[in-house]
Amino acid sequence: METQSLAGLGPAELEKVISPLPRFRAVQIYKWIIKGVSDFEQMTDIPNSLRTELKDHFRLFSGSVVSCHEDADTMKTAIVMEDGQKIEAVLLNDGKNRLTACLSTQCGCPAGCVFCKTGTLGFKRNLNSNEIVEQFFLLTSLAAANEKAQKKEEHLKEKHIIDNIVIMGMGEPLLNLEQLRKAISILNDPSGLNFSRRRITVSTCGICSSMFDIAENGPFVRLALSLTTADEILRQKLMPVTAANPLQKVKEALSLFQHNGGGRITLEIPLLGGINTRDQDVVLIARFAEGIDSVINIIPWNPVEGLEFEGNVLHEPSKKEIVEFIKKLENLGLKVTTRLRKGRGVLGACGQLG
Ligand code: SF4
Repeated sequence: METQSLAGLGPAELEKVISPLPRFRAVQIYKWIIKGVSDFEQMTDIPNSLRTELKDHFRLFSGSVVSCHEDADTMKTAIVMEDGQKIEAVLLNDGKNRLTACLSTQCGCPAGCVFCKTGTLGFKRNLNSNEIVEQFFLLTSLAAANEKAQKKEEHLKEKHIIDNIVIMGMGEPLLNLEQLRKAISILNDPSGLNFSRRRITVSTCGICSSMFDIAENGPFVRLALSLTTADEILRQKLMPVTAANPLQKVKEALSLFQHNGGGRITLEIPLLGGINTRDQDVVLIARFAEGIDSVINIIPWNPVEGLEFEGNVLHEPSKKEIVEFIKKLENLGLKVTTRLRKGRGVLGACGQLG
């Protein structure tokens, strides 16, 4: 029989699960999980006999890391869940030793964006909140095992090893809203990890019903919309969810989110060579962004073998295409950032997971 895993639980739930052990034991265990331990044996302020007892009755993680690929700034882990399904989670270093955890919310994805590897896998199932949170602690334990991060941890003392969370791994988070919401409340719990909502970014391809729900009821995390293009016809072809979620409605949801207390929105443009780099794309993006406090994030498309659009193999934008696209957006007064091509060596970059 599988034993209960502890790493994805909030402090109150953890206390209940280990009952009748006293509350202070739950506090100790939780503190070790936050520090990124990967084994009960590392919980040195818990007596040996109790550590053995805990090992007999519980596991730290329900999933297990089956592979881990690393390049200079990215660590991609494949995690096998209890039912054998596989997901991926990625740890990114921005070069200044600031770490970002990229978490998945579904096994596979039903959205089927044509430029995304995950979209080709089909949909297997939603992750539950524990499985989402657990990825954060698995990545924390990997970061803690990394020498540089350990030094950083000593330096920062009480702060988290990981600085930011982006929920833009495998899956469409807003098609799994209930579990996403629960996961964020565990990560954000002031009596536990207390990870600031402002350092959590949820990326969506634009699921209106959930966006309106978040705009009305929170959580007011940072929101990123994978816009890709504001040409409705082209977007329907690239991102089939557009048919049921027209851009006008998506924009209304973003405006309401901002009006009700949400911060600046990131509009992500995965730039596909020769497809969404036209002048009309620039103009339509600018029109879409009107009235929204936003920043445009250009993500030059990361190559994935075998992906096609209208019978042609997708390819990366040229340097000239990228530079000119950015210049044209800036000339229209938009704020533009470019996401560095991180993680490509390990196929851990945006759109490559799976
Ligand atoms: S881009 Fe996101 S929403 Fe679209 S298929 Fe990939 S994982 Fe799903």
